[in-house]
Amino acid sequence: MLAALPPLTYYLRICVDEFQGALVVPTADLLRRIPAPTVTAVLIYGCWLLFQTSAYLLIPGKIYEGEPLSDKTRLKYKTNGWFCFWLTLCAFALAIALGWIPATILYDNFGPLLTTANLFVFLFAVLLYALGKRSGRSERRTGNLLVDYVMGTSLNPRLGSFDAKFFCESRPGLIFWVLLNFSFAAKQYELHGQVTTPMLLVLAFQLLYVADYFFHEEAILTTWDIKHENFGWMLCWGCLVWVPFTYTLQAQYLIHHTHELPIVAVIGLVGLNLAGFAIFRGANIQKHRFRKNPERLIWGKPPQYIRTSRGPLLLTSGWWGIARHSNYLGDLLMALAWCLTTGFTHVLPYFYFIYFAILLIHRDRRDNVTCRGKYGEDWDSYCRKVRWRIVPGLY
Ligand code: NDP
Repeated sequence: MLAALPPLTYYLRICVDEFQGALVVPTADLLRRIPAPTVTAVLIYGCWLLFQTSAYLLIPGKIYEGEPLSDKTRLKYKTNGWFCFWLTLCAFALAIALGWIPATILYDNFGPLLTTANLFVFLFAVLLYALGKRSGRSERRTGNLLVDYVMGTSLNPRLGSFDAKFFCESRPGLIFWVLLNFSFAAKQYELHGQVTTPMLLVLAFQLLYVADYFFHEEAILTTWDIKHENFGWMLCWGCLVWVPFTYTLQAQYLIHHTHELPIVAVIGLVGLNLAGFAIFRGANIQKHRFRKNPERLIWGKPPQYIRTSRGPLLLTSGWWGIARHSNYLGDLLMALAWCLTTGFTHVLPYFYFIYFAILLIHRDRRDNVTCRGKYGEDWDSYCRKVRWRIVPGLY
């Protein structure tokens, strides 16, 4: 992962930006195209992290308790993301309106920013490694330096009230994704004198996705990442580099591809995205609310569930009675809608959907193994009751 993933981000960028989306055969020549960090990129990224960290620490927000840890204690999390998200968008828009920065700034510095973000994560992960080792808690460490560096040495590394994982899961990555998209749209306008409907659709769909995350920010507290995944290079790099710099692939592609879509296609794509969103959001919030209050009605009826001998309840009605990971299905439908906006000329903009399908299938299997280990026969009963993994009737 350490050796292959960062080059992949450059490869994708080079294909989309310099070869109009064609998949070129990687040669040594591509290495020469990897940009070095520039002073401007380091300044932008430094200011970015400082702004997000300050907003996270200084702006008040509702406090939620996380799920119980292995020692039965619960951590407290401040959820001010909704406010910080809109504050950031307004600040970005204001800085452009006042002429302090050009709207295309993130596009213009994309390559050096990618390198800067990569370098930052490699260094930050050293700090995370050391913090975890110092904490003294034994949280799934292997003792192998490289594995622990990648997978993390601590579940919840904190510096005072700064929770590194909770912060990095969203603020510097997800919001950056939205700003990059806006910057790409500005570039399209600068180059072609228009912002096309596909570009507007991608911007709107992905804005909805990210805004929704912050609207339901506390729901992250019952997800796999927060509950089970140590915070090391892998998760940190995923959140800070992979998400903003590759999830923007469709908008990057559309800068140079100014096709329009027939109205039926627009309606179809909006419908597909909204259907995916309804399933994704419905499933995630049902589980979250159920875990907080098992009495709460689901689709107007008392929830059905299996009581495990370990204590936690497994929901078997609503979306969780249809498939064991309906939330993944919703996410995939949205991913497909985003990719379809780009047309059918190149396969590259479909990278997100292909990669995401593989990731979620793997993740479902990993989760299945963990839950089987945790809940034993109760999990088997649950799997018999809810037969399908992700796509009812198919998988
Ligand atoms: P889930 O939110 O599905 O969480 C899985 C955990 O939920 C299990 O480990 C188990 O934990 C609990 N659980 C499983 N089944 C039930 C049930 N029937 N009733 C109650 N609890 C249950 O997984 P993820 O964290 O993987 O995904 C969260 C969202 O994030 C998804 O919508 C996914 O699509 C999205 N996602 C997006 C990514 C992106 O890059 N855009 C990447 C990864 C995920 P326990 O029993 O211990 O509580």
